[in-house]
Amino acid sequence: MLQLITSTMQDDFPLTITSILRHGSTVYGQSECVTWQGDKARHSTYAEVAQNAERLAAALTKLGIGAGERVGTFCWNHQEHLEAYYAVPCMGAVLHTLNIRLPARQVAHIVNHAEDKVVIVDGNLLPALAPAVAELTTVQAYIVIGDGDVSVLGDATVLRYDDLLAAEEPGFVWPELDERSAASMCYTSGTTGDPKGVVYSHRSTFLHALGTLGLSATGASESDRILTFVPMFHVNAWGIPFGALLSGASLHLPGPFMTPGPITDFIAAERSTLASAVPTIWAGILQYGEQSPIDLSSLRMGTSGGAAIPQALLEAFQTKYDLRIVQGWGMTETSPVGGIAHPPADVELGSFEEIGWRMKSGRILAGVQMRIVSDDGTELPWDGAAVGEIEVRGPWITGSYYRAPTPEKFDDGWLRTGDIGTIDERGFFQITDRSKDVIKSGGEWISSVELENLLAGSPDVLEAAVIAIPDDRWTERPLACIVRKPGAGAEAADLAKFLVGLVAAWQVPENWTFVDEVPKTTVGKFDKKVLRARYQSGELKVERTKP
Ligand code: AMP
Repeated sequence: MLQLITSTMQDDFPLTITSILRHGSTVYGQSECVTWQGDKARHSTYAEVAQNAERLAAALTKLGIGAGERVGTFCWNHQEHLEAYYAVPCMGAVLHTLNIRLPARQVAHIVNHAEDKVVIVDGNLLPALAPAVAELTTVQAYIVIGDGDVSVLGDATVLRYDDLLAAEEPGFVWPELDERSAASMCYTSGTTGDPKGVVYSHRSTFLHALGTLGLSATGASESDRILTFVPMFHVNAWGIPFGALLSGASLHLPGPFMTPGPITDFIAAERSTLASAVPTIWAGILQYGEQSPIDLSSLRMGTSGGAAIPQALLEAFQTKYDLRIVQGWGMTETSPVGGIAHPPADVELGSFEEIGWRMKSGRILAGVQMRIVSDDGTELPWDGAAVGEIEVRGPWITGSYYRAPTPEKFDDGWLRTGDIGTIDERGFFQITDRSKDVIKSGGEWISSVELENLLAGSPDVLEAAVIAIPDDRWTERPLACIVRKPGAGAEAADLAKFLVGLVAAWQVPENWTFVDEVPKTTVGKFDKKVLRARYQSGELKVERTKP
């Protein structure tokens, strides 16, 4: 008879952020957290960061923070934020990173919804937090990093980060934690309605960090210096602060200096080897490089995600700077990395063919399961052609939203991403649209992402966003919202002509508007909701070309 053997492994050994910290601060104790200060860098070792995390945990314990209680951060990317990233989860509390660019009403909503007890805030961000302060009903104390006018915090208890840490000794004893306990939380960017909370566990954070380190993702190691422009308030900066201590890679944090000049100075001075950013940041760097000399020679790879990157941008970085930018896909709900578009093994790196592969949204990352589903719920084939909604599941994909029942977002244990796209037989997937952005013209779908990508390839176009507008005959038609490059004179008819032959004739927009800037969300994505509202209010001057 068949004898089943049970595992003899220590399967109940918890995967926690504490073990990431322990590893990073001992085995890689000399790797560094480097914070840019505008003209020079501040260096600290991971061993020092860990000691400060211990001091911070001791101080938060004295402030009454217990297991499972939420501590908010309202901060840029810097060393103190990294210390909170470890202190709060490792003491058993929950780190709640707050988006510093949200309107006060939404900041108040998410702080109150998460019931943050303490908020750690940058002194230079006090003016941004101030309009929300009166509405915060659960916050008992603020810890202020650096200088700033604390009078805006009213009569709340105000403590200074440096004083708190100076009063404590390292050596805080980290508690044993259940790997399934909550470690951190982040609210979605909320382009529709109020943001919804996603809670990450120790286990999901550990596994996601491991998942992002393989060679089919970043391949980060001790010899890397990873610069993250992705804000630490947005999906744990794509998990990079955790991957860094696991792999021994040093971490480069730009502080509040997020414009192309200081960013590129930082890269040149500290010789970053990897950099992660959303496409708008990459586009800004490229544009800046057209006027000022920049040195990106230390970068071995860039990663881009959060929105589709235009092909013209990938090509320009490749030809001008010999820099490969690889695209990845993810969401707040997916921790975020679900796939990275490294080309298949038989494609030569840096070749033109390779750029085509990097234009895929991603290749499914080990650990994540993905499928596409049609409107009627049928699972569609992986043939690179069938288009449906992308659904995912896996150990770092959320199974619910925090105190917000939303059964419609899940399908038999799979997360409905709201992204529309294809998957091919080798697991490369291509997002063609958000379900709410797709243009339904005469019963056929037009991909706004594809039109935007192609238009961005015109020498006259700086930015292009395409939205659906109502049409009596076709139900919807595309409206292309264009920002011209400085000095460029292309008219609507020229741009329509540019698209001929690149897409089917019926997909070429006949509605055009020229704007000074495409409105962006708080995390730098095109805000099509604002564009749609501007169109509806008649604010956009629409020019029509001949169909
Ligand atoms: P967020 O939760 O704010 O990070 O937004 C997640 C959404 O960003 C996804 O559902 C996609 O619609 C979009 N997104 C992320 N990465 C990509 C990508 N590489 N290409 C296209 N859209 C993307």
